[in-house]
Amino acid sequence: MAHANDPQLQSWITVPKGSDFPIQNLPFGIFSCSNKAPRPCTRIGDTVIDLRALAERSHIQSVDIEVLQQTVLNPLFALGRAKVGELRNELATLFAADNATIKNNEQPFLHDVAAVTMHLPVRVENYTDFYSSEEHATNVGTMFRGKDNALMPNWKHIPVGYHGRASSIVVSGTPVRRPNGQQLPKDAEAPVFGPSKLLDFELEMAFITCGENALGDPISMEKAEDHIIGMVLFNDWSARDIQKWEYVPLGPFLGKNFGSSVSPWVVTLDALEPFRVPGPKQEPAVLPYLAFEGAKNFDINLSVSIQPEGSDEKVVCHSNHKYLYWNMAQQLVHHTVNGCNIKTGDMYASGTISGPDETAFGSMLELTWRGTKPIAMPDGSERKFINDHDTVIMRGHCEKDGLRIGFGEVRSQVLPAHNL
Ligand code: CA
Repeated sequence: MAHANDPQLQSWITVPKGSDFPIQNLPFGIFSCSNKAPRPCTRIGDTVIDLRALAERSHIQSVDIEVLQQTVLNPLFALGRAKVGELRNELATLFAADNATIKNNEQPFLHDVAAVTMHLPVRVENYTDFYSSEEHATNVGTMFRGKDNALMPNWKHIPVGYHGRASSIVVSGTPVRRPNGQQLPKDAEAPVFGPSKLLDFELEMAFITCGENALGDPISMEKAEDHIIGMVLFNDWSARDIQKWEYVPLGPFLGKNFGSSVSPWVVTLDALEPFRVPGPKQEPAVLPYLAFEGAKNFDINLSVSIQPEGSDEKVVCHSNHKYLYWNMAQQLVHHTVNGCNIKTGDMYASGTISGPDETAFGSMLELTWRGTKPIAMPDGSERKFINDHDTVIMRGHCEKDGLRIGFGEVRSQVLPAHNL
């Protein structure tokens, strides 16, 4: 077990009750503030810790100072899981309750989270979106093809996915603009152009890769998790009407690539180790290259809230990462089995994470069953999909034996479409 994971460990930095960020988390992010340009950081409680300043004052020995003098985490993550794990352990020692090294000289290193700006943690090299929740695939399939043909014949054999757009991935707090596009109105013969009327969220999580494989060389199941540095919350914004008209035969395009929002803290796979659980039984058996041993799902509680402008927020969904049929290792193995090469800083989203009951559906499409069951908001209005000026908030955390490790939140407000 990594030293940083010791459940007995306490920090001299205050950790509020119910915080996602005890000393056992030590996620990585990029922050800036009034007198500091963007740089790597970690977090304990509500305190952001400047890793560059620590390294420049010789408090960090486990990694070269250069990787902490960057505006993205790619160079740090390129060192690999073992090295990043060493840094995490070193930080756990520096900030442990019985260590006064920094405590007596804390001024240049520590910032209140409310006083900093968080940035996209990595330069996203590539983005792939999977479709790995059986409940989500079944719900969508039932709506569009009927119950008997809900799952396509390939679904239980292949972790289905597509290549998304890296450039439009934005960090929590960045507004998302409602897209314009072509839609085919019901019973119409020709498409119309205008703002999407069916703007939706998708509750997902994404893993970030570290290290590269040579083009042509697959990553094996044994090595797959060595290439997964950690995870973020991921809201894969979707315009259902644009998507429906455009997706045949090549799949999602402009209904998907206008924005995806991520949480700013990369929670390491190391920190999530205590929360491994077995996934759903895979029947029929997968092909040998996708077979795995041990528990490869993670028990991460997820929620989605909608906050109309000027109103309280309303929780519309509780789901869990553990429901995913295909696990991250299988996704990565499948992705590279043909020799496709990965980069440090790639993001791989899970696909919408829906659970077995109606309160665990991870999109408005499912929650309101294509708009037939609107959801009441605290201000008296109702939602079939997402309105202009609504804020959508996703949160995620693990909890077991009194230890809580969380992701914080990804929060984004929808702006009205441009008038074209
Ligand atoms: Ca998606």
